[in-house]
Amino acid sequence: MARILLDELRHAYRPDPVDDADWALKRLDLEWEDGGAYALLGPSGCGKTTLLSIISGLLRPTGGRVLFDGEDVTDLPPDRRHIAQVFQFPVVYDTMTVYDNLAFPLRNRGVNEARVDARVREIAEMIDLTHMLKQRAAGLTADGKQKISLGRGLVRDDVNAIMFDEPLTVIDPHLKWQLRSKLKELHQRVRTTMIYVTHDQTEALTFADKVVVMNQGEVVQIGTPVELFERPRHTFVGHFIGSPGMNVLPCALDEGGRVSIAGTPVATSASAAPAPGAGRIEVGVRPEFVSFADGAGEGRLPARVVKVADAGRFRIVEADASGNAIKLLVAEGVDIPGEAAWLSLDPAHTAVYRDGWIVA
Ligand code: ADP
Ligand code: MG
Repeated sequence: MARILLDELRHAYRPDPVDDADWALKRLDLEWEDGGAYALLGPSGCGKTTLLSIISGLLRPTGGRVLFDGEDVTDLPPDRRHIAQVFQFPVVYDTMTVYDNLAFPLRNRGVNEARVDARVREIAEMIDLTHMLKQRAAGLTADGKQKISLGRGLVRDDVNAIMFDEPLTVIDPHLKWQLRSKLKELHQRVRTTMIYVTHDQTEALTFADKVVVMNQGEVVQIGTPVELFERPRHTFVGHFIGSPGMNVLPCALDEGGRVSIAGTPVATSASAAPAPGAGRIEVGVRPEFVSFADGAGEGRLPARVVKVADAGRFRIVEADASGNAIKLLVAEGVDIPGEAAWLSLDPAHTAVYRDGWIVA
């Protein structure tokens, strides 16, 4: 196992990168603690697979270094990095049995047969393949084959890290949560560093102790699921995580650093007041922290209820506050005013953002 450090990492697939968009990874300084359960979360095309390929050695970065426990491995080939990788689509040997597929990574490294047998059976049991060990892989469904791929990633116990690249894409929905909780359970048992790549916030938040959120080739925040929820560092995180995502509202900024939305001054949690003039200023507040007030008052926004959607234990209300669309979550049993309403934002959970980044 190892602590993995990425030092000033950048990558461009094209030979002559000029502007920002030419970089698949812009600049990354990132540390993966030994034994952590990480999720790498971001929309399609943001650079997740590129990052994994650089860690595993399949791709050499345009700039920067990869260090395992302080040792520079940037020029080491994949087989000398001891990384297990599970890809989005199954990688199995069709002509081999399930057993031999699982045994392959171990036999390949000269592990003795008694040990191979013990490991293969242990892993097969865990991912529910025991009854199929003697079958040829060719006869399995996509689900089954992907389970073999997972097993092949998990079978070695000499790896620095195990990386999963959207491994449940081809898995049937009912099996998904089952496999995900198996992986979580396994991590708690073996404590190998695991990096789980996904574009699905539910997968990321249930698997990981720490989530690394990426957007457009950049890491925008690293945090626990609670931190990402309570204090998004970037409006992208606020919007991407949460259901519905954070409200991001244009606002005006006065000389004293106070913000107002459509003429109404609102209290925010940011301690340092943003300097006037520079950059695009917005207020971010999650729908969980917006509520109906019983009338006009300081910091309350006049609004009109536009739409109400039932979401089980609460309702998602869409309101219009002087042209700004604001969503709020309203618990069951709480009255929703007719047309005219007043909205109140919880100052402790209302933050100011400049050019997307939180002002702190
Ligand atoms: P993700 O895994 O988050 O979907 P990728 O790392 O696959 O993102 O891709 C990041 C960016 O790099 C995308 O713009 C993608 O089009 C580009 N890209 C990925 N692989 C290649 C490649 N082999 N050659 C050129 N561009 C690539
Ligand atoms: Mg990918």
